[in-house]
This record gives sequence, C-alpha cells and structure tokens, in this order.
Amino acid sequence: MKFGGTSVADETCISRVVDILDHYHHAGNEIAVVVSAMSGVTDELIAIAGEVIASQGEPPIDPFIQSFRSRHRKVISAVAPNQADDVIAVIDDRLSNLRNILNAVHTLRELTPRSKDYIISFGERLCALIVSAAIRERGIASVALNGCEAGIVTTSQHGCAQALTESEQHIKSRIVPLLIDSMPVIMGFMGCTREGIVTTLGRSGSDYSAAVIGAAIDADEIWIWTDVDGVMTADPRIISDARVLHGVSYLEAMELSYFGAKVLHPRSIEPAMQKDILVRVKNTFNPSHEGSCVFRTEHRDRRVVKGISYIEKVSLINISGAQMIGRPGVAKAIFTALADNNVNVMLISQGSSEANISLIVDDDHLITAMEALSGVQKNGYVRDVFYDRNVIAVAVVGSGMAGTPGISGRIFTALGKTGVNVMMISQGSSEVNVSFVVRSGDGPVALRVLHDEFRLSEEHDDEPYLS
Ligand code: ADP
Ligand code: ASP
Ligand code: MG
Repeated sequence: MKFGGTSVADETCISRVVDILDHYHHAGNEIAVVVSAMSGVTDELIAIAGEVIASQGEPPIDPFIQSFRSRHRKVISAVAPNQADDVIAVIDDRLSNLRNILNAVHTLRELTPRSKDYIISFGERLCALIVSAAIRERGIASVALNGCEAGIVTTSQHGCAQALTESEQHIKSRIVPLLIDSMPVIMGFMGCTREGIVTTLGRSGSDYSAAVIGAAIDADEIWIWTDVDGVMTADPRIISDARVLHGVSYLEAMELSYFGAKVLHPRSIEPAMQKDILVRVKNTFNPSHEGSCVFRTEHRDRRVVKGISYIEKVSLINISGAQMIGRPGVAKAIFTALADNNVNVMLISQGSSEANISLIVDDDHLITAMEALSGVQKNGYVRDVFYDRNVIAVAVVGSGMAGTPGISGRIFTALGKTGVNVMMISQGSSEVNVSFVVRSGDGPVALRVLHDEFRLSEEHDDEPYLS
C-alpha cells in the first residue's frame, strides 16, 4: 500500500492512514507500506536547493531547517507521543546532515544531479520515520527502510532513475521476512545505484517504488492510496463532473498517465503488468469507496473512449524542407540527433508529402532539441526548424477504440465545431490512444468538448470490475 503526499500531509492525515492500515492488518493481510513525503515537502526541498545555489548573500538555510523541523516535530508528537523524543533525535540527526549538504552546495556553488537527488530524498526519509512510529504506537511492529535498504537498485540517471532487474531479488530477501510479524514502511521515490549512490525515480515516483516492491514480493495487489476516488475519466480539477472508472486496463492506465493523469506515475504500471498484479487506486479520505482497478483485461467496453488526459509544458517542433521529400535517412538523422542528446520525443507526426515532420518534446528538453536539430540542418535538406511553446498535448484513450471506425472523425468534428484548431495529430498503432496538439488556451475547451462528446460523465454498466 502506497500513500501519497496529501494522504500523509499532517497528523490528522497520518492517523487516518494508520486507521486504514490497522483495519487491513486485522483483517489478516500482510502489508508493505510505501510513503511519499508530506505534501509540498519535495517542492520545498527543490526550491531551497535552487535558492542555495543562486543566492549571492547568506542563503536561508537555517530558517528552512527550522521550519522543516517544526513541521515534522509537530506531527510526530501528535501521532506517536510515546516515541516522540527518540524519533525527534533521529530527525534532528538527519536534518543536521541536510544542513551540512546545503551549506556545502552553497560554498561550492555546485549543485550536481547527484547532490540534488540526495537533498530531495529527505522528505520521504522523514515521513517514513513518522509513519512507522505511528504504526508502532498502535501496537503493530514496524521499521522504516530507505529505498536502498529496501533493495531498490537503480540506474544512475539522477532525477529519473529506473529500477534494475536485480532489485527483485534484493527486495524479496529484505522485505518478505519482515512481513511475517511486522509492517515495514519504505521511503518512496528513492533508490540507489549498485555503488550505493542515492537516486530519485522522477516526480511522483513513489507510485513506481510501490509497483517495483509489490511486483518483487509477488503481492496479491498493489494499492495506491491518494486524494481522489480512483482513476477518473479526466483530471477532476479541469472537468468537474469527471467520473471514477471502475476498471481500467494496464494499457489504458499507461496511456492516461503518460499523458499527464497524475494519479499514477507512468512507469508504475509496467512492474505490475509483468507479474499480472492488480493495481487498485483508492481514496484515503473516502476509504469505503471501491476505487479503480487496473488489470489485464481483454474486455472491450461498449464505451470506446474511457478517458482523456493532457500534458502541459511541452513544445511543438516543426521540421520542414522540400528536399526532405523521398530522401531516405532524414528521419534517422533527426531522431538520432535527438536521442544522442537524451531528448525524449513524446509525439511524432509526418505528413505524407514527407516535407514536414512535427514532434512534441518536454519544455525542459527544448533548447537541447533545437541545438541538436541545428546540427542536422547543416546537412542541407532540412530547411526550417520552428518551435512553439504555447501548446498542450491531449490524449483520448480507450482500448475499445481499436478497430472501431469513426472515433477520430467524432473527435475532430467535435473540436472543429467548437472552433478549436488542431495543430498536430498522432495515433499510435495500438489504437488505444488518439493524441493531438492544440494551443494551450484551447486545452480546457478541448477536454470539455470531448468529455461531452463521448458522454464520459454518465455511469456505464459495462465496465469491467474485479471486486
Ligand atoms: P498523491 O500525492 O497521492 O501521489 P497526486 O497529486 O500525485 O497524488 O495524484 C492525484 C491527483 O491526480 C488528483 O488529485 C487529481 O487532481 C489528479 N488527476 C489528474 N488526472 C486524473 C485522472 N484522470 N484521474 C484521477 N486523478 C487525476
Ligand atoms: N515526493 C515526491 C514528489 O513530490 C514523490 C512522490 O510524491 O511520489 O514528487
Ligand atoms: Mg502522485
């Protein structure tokens, strides 16, 4: 069971989490717990790391450590009063370590991806100590483990590390024995390389930690506890009548999360899918709601479109040149240049005239991508490379779309009638997803129109669900 940042935001939330764990423990379950940092904490750590490196004068390290300390101290005193002194001593020790690192970053004026990962893992480090103590306070044995101690061995891509296959054995041998008579609490979001260097798994990466651990211990189910009732037809912050989906296939969940449905980290599905483990998404604040099940299903809903998601902070790059027509190797040159510079291409579309290739990349990769493409331009056959940052990518997702004619027609007719201009279209050959790009300002309208077109807020009795 993984609990996200809002689920462990303060003492009331953590007590609620322990109620839930207590309930399922007494119902006879063995539970490995994964926690995120308390909500907002990772953002604060990222911000202080940035301030420390940028600040000319004395950076606000001490006030930061103090406010951090008092937030965590208040929570531990409330949820585990009998152990508060001991846990506070450990927290203080961790915080003096954090203070030293921040001071070193300031002195050297050097924040490497490696030191940044170490700094931003502190939210999970402190939160797991607190949750574990709160569980012990209820009379259930518990230890807190960091990602390394739990056995998550990763690649060395700081900021977006991936678990290596050898993690499975390590996790199994470390976690399974603990489950027999205790409830281990594992710090999400972090792991370490084979050399023991701390890495992080990408923003929202605790979902991925939970999936890697759940798969390694052959869990019956992986539960993601969050602040909404499940995976919904669209982001409920934009579409107020978005509805909870009872059953979602692994592929649908992957597509929705890859295209920005924050409720699940995109990489959290694969470990579960490999072992065929059901992922359940549930609401900590409404635990009696059945939530959503993500699982392998061949079932094709009559409802062809299941959900719509969108990614902001992306850029559209348009590459054109009459000499690109019929010339083999143009696409290869473009994508090799981008790959060699670690630019991840999220969407691709090529016109049949071949005089034009459009791509979507993350805003953070735009400058690198443009530099890489200016190298390709020197070959002569690519004439123009333009970019546009003012766009969002939208994905319409549903496994029933495969082989159902007319879906693209409905999507683009509905958008056209509302006057939304579509700048680029891409459809994966799996047909689980039709994606397109519109101006940022048109995003909310596009979502609204398609949510209505496919009547996604209406209950549907044909959805698969495993109870
Ligand atoms: P946690 O802190 O529990 O990891 P997140 O904030 O990462 O939670 O993810 C949950 C949030 O994801 C929800 O509050 C919701 O606003 C957002 N969200 C975006 N798209 C969807 C969707 N399709 N279904 C459910 N939630 C979504
Ligand atoms: N705390 C990390 C983040 O905010 C990881 C997570 O919440 O899953 O991104
Ligand atoms: Mg999350």
